Amino acid sequence: MKETGGVILKGGALAADELEQINRYTRRPFQEEELYTFSVALCDNEIDRDWERFTVGALHQLSSLFLGKTGIFNHNPQTQNQAARIYDCRVEPIPGRKTRAGEGYHRLVAKAYLPCSEKNADLILELESGIKKEVSVGCAVAKAVCSICGADRRKKDCGHKKGESYGEAVCCTVLDEPTDAYEWSFVAVPAQREAGVLKQYGERRNRNLEDILKSLDGEGELVLDFEERSALRREVQRLWEEAACGRQYREDLEKSVVRLCSVAEPGFPVQAMQRAAESMSLEDLKAFEKAFRGKAEQSLPLAPQLAGAQKKESPAENRAFQI
Ligand SMILES: [Zn+2]
Repeated sequence: MKETGGVILKGGALAADELEQINRYTRRPFQEEELYTFSVALCDNEIDRDWERFTVGALHQLSSLFLGKTGIFNHNPQTQNQAARIYDCRVEPIPGRKTRAGEGYHRLVAKAYLPCSEKNADLILELESGIKKEVSVGCAVAKAVCSICGADRRKKDCGHKKGESYGEAVCCTVLDEPTDAYEWSFVAVPAQREAGVLKQYGERRNRNLEDILKSLDGEGELVLDFEERSALRREVQRLWEEAACGRQYREDLEKSVVRLCSVAEPGFPVQAMQRAAESMSLEDLKAFEKAFRGKAEQSLPLAPQLAGAQKKESPAENRAFQI
């Protein structure tokens, strides 16, 4: 799921064939004077604030996915029935402008309509006056790869850091193969705010692991960005590895207790000791190991295990390296 922001460009008069395009989506044929239309730049191929960018191919695929999608005013319950619908969507190259990645700049521009009804009057006024300048759009992409090495960002952490430069190139995540486009929503922004991309989830947060774990206790939906997911995955991986070491240590201790018991208390049933060792706490295992070892050493001196293997004569080919 990719959340991105767009900018409402302008309202405008209808071209001849646009009424026909719109009427494909309406229940009854509308006349031009019944409709308000405007354009929205939904997204582009520039590297965004999350150090992600769409390919130009992805923008082309999105242009068909966004057709017919409604834009809603979901932040205000009183206006929840109001919706604009995209009836035309295309990729616009902007000649002469390059992206940070060095590609020609392209943006995805949609045209949307809403009926000029009484209940839409305030909204149309806001759109006209520029108060509602931005939209938030969401889509799903199948591919998210590192711009430096092409590694699939969802499967592994290749080590390249988003936003850092590697030679001439700045590292970002390249989004491709969009699979779905979702509803879009209007974002009311103060008129003086600089028009631009607005992310639904705000600025990069740079939460550390402790903050991420704290946020797990909160209610409602939790959104983790790529860095946060990587940090969490690394931590879980580290804990798994440590847990494996811990399990190995315990297993060795249990075996040692059973072995020493058979030396210290030869009459004691081995299987009973095995069952007892399996259910003991680590502290008890250590205490039993110490006690049995003391007793076993009295009855026969225990050779240290490492002394068991006699050092073998070095093979001839290694002798040349011996001093
Ligand atoms: Zn990489």
